[in-house]
Amino acid sequence: MSKFWSSMAKRAKPYVPGEQVEGPNILKLNTNENPYPPSPKVNDAMKNATNHALRLYPSPTVDSLREAIAQEQGVTKDHVFVGNGSDEVLAFSFMAFFEPGKMIRFPNITYSFYPVYATLFDIPFEEVPLQDDFTILPESFFQSEGGVIFPNPNAPTSVFLPLEKVETIIEQNQDHVVMIDEAYVDFASASALSLVHTYDNVLVIQTLSKSRALAGLRVGYAIGNPELIEGLSRIKDSVNSYTIDRVAMAAATAAIKDETYTKELTTKIIQTRTSVTKQLEDLNFEVLPSQTNFVFATHPSVPAQVIYEQLKEQGILIRFFNTELLHNHIRITIGTEEEMKQFFTALKDIISKNI
Ligand SMILES: *Cc1c(COP(=O)(O)O)cnc(C)c1O
Repeated sequence: MSKFWSSMAKRAKPYVPGEQVEGPNILKLNTNENPYPPSPKVNDAMKNATNHALRLYPSPTVDSLREAIAQEQGVTKDHVFVGNGSDEVLAFSFMAFFEPGKMIRFPNITYSFYPVYATLFDIPFEEVPLQDDFTILPESFFQSEGGVIFPNPNAPTSVFLPLEKVETIIEQNQDHVVMIDEAYVDFASASALSLVHTYDNVLVIQTLSKSRALAGLRVGYAIGNPELIEGLSRIKDSVNSYTIDRVAMAAATAAIKDETYTKELTTKIIQTRTSVTKQLEDLNFEVLPSQTNFVFATHPSVPAQVIYEQLKEQGILIRFFNTELLHNHIRITIGTEEEMKQFFTALKDIISKNI
């Protein structure tokens, strides 16, 4: 702790992302990245964008990309806000819509960035327990003091909350913003986007990092009532006018427009997810019903930490959360068919040795 730090820097408890190890013999199934490359159109768009125009600042209002997202999602441009990864969109949303001193709610098992933002911005939070089957109990989010945020599907549980239940949470919080973090929605059965037209207090946040295989590009977006979008712009324009550079804007626009390619990727990953779930169950794992590009599982006799560590010794990275609530679960990102074959060869061996 330095005497030069502001109280904000002092109280910060930074988020720790999954390890980013690179190497020829590393199998990375730990940060829910897409195992497939992005659309080839992304590459072309980036090449075309790296020209003399780079001497100019990009559009501060990210117009062409917002237009593309609006078209794809069936809304108008003034319903769309774009940020440098949905993590930035989330941070701006906390600043724009949650009030210091007013208690917000999110699930006790969820994306661990939420408590980080809340702490940084001095927003008190209540971590609402999930039910025993890891589902969200909608009633426990009714009538919040300061607002609600949860991912749907939830992470790291992979469990999806049906839209009619999501709607009750929005309906029962009409004086506060309900943020639905849809990082994994393209692997799920439905989006809350349709609710944006009925309710002015819902903000849906999505990303290009998972289903569109562009975690390295850093583009995410929020869709909501134009007044919410204006609130987000006020925050952004008070921090950084140009969060999306010219190359990222061109690449993201191409990715959004190539819906056929995105559909191909998600279809493949969902197929692999089905077979991964089955194979885990054959090894006696309990696997939660996943609507994401990862699975969340626990073994009745082999501790999660042992599985995590022994896979790591072989260069296979999965996610293990050493917390009271999650210490016996592992989270495995869905890779390619071949990657999952390699994973299961190692896993079967570990299970049979430790049982
Ligand atoms: C991956 C993820 C994000 C962050 O996505 P970026 O757009 O890469 O910042 C946000 N929320 C959840 C729940 C995620 O899993």
